[in-house]
Amino acid sequence: MNLLSQLLSRPSQPKSAKKRRMRGIELKTEAEIAIMRQASRIVATVLKEIAERVQPGMTTADLDAYAEARIRELGATPSFKGYHGFPSSICACLNDEVVHGIPRSRKVIRTGDVLKVDTGAYYEGFHGDSCLTIAVGTVSEAAQALMAAAEAALYAGIAQVKAGNTLLDIAGAIEDVALAADFSIVENYVGHGVGRNLHEAPSVFNFRTRQLPNVTLQAGMTLAIEPILNAGGKHTRTLSDRWTVVTMDRSLSAQFEHTVLVTESGYEILTDRDRL
Ligand code: MG
Ligand code: MG
Repeated sequence: MNLLSQLLSRPSQPKSAKKRRMRGIELKTEAEIAIMRQASRIVATVLKEIAERVQPGMTTADLDAYAEARIRELGATPSFKGYHGFPSSICACLNDEVVHGIPRSRKVIRTGDVLKVDTGAYYEGFHGDSCLTIAVGTVSEAAQALMAAAEAALYAGIAQVKAGNTLLDIAGAIEDVALAADFSIVENYVGHGVGRNLHEAPSVFNFRTRQLPNVTLQAGMTLAIEPILNAGGKHTRTLSDRWTVVTMDRSLSAQFEHTVLVTESGYEILTDRDRL
């Protein structure tokens, strides 16, 4: 999400939740975690189905219609639709598009495209949030390397998730993977807490920074970790539709995201597609 909007947003919290917050970060109860598993499972199901079904010739609007129908069929509502005015249930980004791509009926998906699909589901008061990058048909070796690094960076970050570790441990692991592969990290869109709100505290950076205080992870935190890697430079710009963000140099961009629960001994990937 956009850093500024995250800093300005004040998550609404019921008073009863107060005792379960640590430095403004809500710690979820077992009952809340059970609901988040359901919300996240819906997200994982929809993304898995899209990855299996996407074909050259489809449009990003086709994917959006499918996602919305499935999210509703599975008993949830699309988290993104109407969020700050966003018009759709998925963000769909092709090639040099980075985040917040609005699905369009004129955006035809072609063989060789690098397609990012990000979606969220709101279920019984809680959100799940996940993104993956899909190679449409055969993509270039450069695209394969970028996608592999972005996914490896996400899992390296997740591997640092456990009570007692910090957000900087996650950020450092992501940064190390990205830089070792010689890709740049987009800095102005970062991960976030997720729960009652799609975006809540804390910001989960993908690079070492002193921009915000470091946070020690505690069991019950739920984080959306979502590194974005570019083949070229890290800089981005927003198109005139006021949503779609592209790389400044028009180089390829890839992103993977999971909603992850912090546990005492490690983590649970709530949006894991492999355990559906
Ligand atoms: Mg997302
Ligand atoms: Mg997110």
